[in-house]
Amino acid sequence: MVSRGYVPSASRIPAPDMSFARLFADTTVGWQQRGQYAIWTGANAPGDPKFQLLERHQNRVAVIVSNDEGAVMHKIASGRAFTVENVMGYWLSFDCDAIWLDLPNQNGQYTMLAVGGAIGKPAHAEIDCPCPRCGTALGRQSFAIGPRGFDRLLDSAEVWVADFNATEEKRTCPHCGGVHPATYGLVRDKSQQPHIGG
Ligand SMILES: [Zn+2]
Repeated sequence: MVSRGYVPSASRIPAPDMSFARLFADTTVGWQQRGQYAIWTGANAPGDPKFQLLERHQNRVAVIVSNDEGAVMHKIASGRAFTVENVMGYWLSFDCDAIWLDLPNQNGQYTMLAVGGAIGKPAHAEIDCPCPRCGTALGRQSFAIGPRGFDRLLDSAEVWVADFNATEEKRTCPHCGGVHPATYGLVRDKSQQPHIGG
């Protein structure tokens, strides 16, 4: 006998999100906010520039990769700055956890990044780029993410990139004088390779 739990008879049973599926191979979808998650998936053919998760730990950068180049599932903790090479040219942190999936396969590489998992999250993001010499966060800016406002955050990130690129002062490290080169925004699909200068 399995307990199926207790459902108060007067309450509406919430409708489960049964119809949502994403194909890793469909690279046209981009970011999608669905239920409690903002979800991105990517696909690479063998030889394409790899999608590579980087995490920042204080002023050091950790490459999240399996020693045997096998599949990886990794939790990005709330508040941890990260970026994905060949997906976005800036670093992000959120006020909630995220899950990264890296699935090498015979077709190349499938990847997924899912941010959220709690009601109302992510509500807040920070964007910056680390100084290439000492790791100090440059141009750090906070963004409020309203309900279903993930698209707006992505638009704000493009504005942030244009401003960062146009303002050498923002790319210059106050500690060591290192200058971050111009960067790129979100790579929206595979036909759009990372480019500098926006
Ligand atoms: Zn520096």
